[in-house]
Amino acid sequence: MKVVVVAGIPGSGSTTVLKGALVDLDYVHVNYGDVMMEIAQKKNLVKDRDSIRTLAPDVQKDVQREAAKKIREMAQQSNIIVDTHCTVKTPLGFLPGLPPWVLEELQPDQFVLVEADGDEILMRRIQDTTRIRDMEKLRDIDLHQEMNRSVAMAYAALTGATVQIIQNHDDQLDETVARMIDTL
Ligand code: AMP
Ligand code: MG
Repeated sequence: MKVVVVAGIPGSGSTTVLKGALVDLDYVHVNYGDVMMEIAQKKNLVKDRDSIRTLAPDVQKDVQREAAKKIREMAQQSNIIVDTHCTVKTPLGFLPGLPPWVLEELQPDQFVLVEADGDEILMRRIQDTTRIRDMEKLRDIDLHQEMNRSVAMAYAALTGATVQIIQNHDDQLDETVARMIDTL
């Protein structure tokens, strides 16, 4: 079964693009954040998903590890898309989203990074009132996307998976969805 990891920083639109692409494709869409949220809530660690990234790194890593195991079980039956993050921005710095113990569980075949321009991401975050988005400067957003590119290639080197980068610019959702369908 094929395992594809799709990642993009908050505001990149990765989840929106995926939802559009998966209408016609035979993949199960698993949101890593949902699985972590379920585990963290059971342990009474958080009330909302945007608080997970502020937990102590060791606690985040425990939840991350448990989530990887759960997702691996789901991937026995079907092709799976893991909607997640290459790095998570925590108060103590960038936390790798797919450290070796997560990669070992998931054994991904492909990474797809969804990106947009920094100013597009900034505006989307300002307009999204459903989430508690970090208010960052343009240069922080650019740095976060650069970190994700680098670490995605490192994840690929560890697993042999390929890395595809897809741009999701404003008012071009249909084109982006088409590109996502092509690559999946
Ligand atoms: P999302 O809904 O995609 O923004 O994910 C919600 C939260 O789940 C993120 O802000 C992170 O705290 C956490 N999360 C998602 N994927 C990972 C991962 N691979 N490693 C660590 N934390 C993650
Ligand atoms: Mg998402």
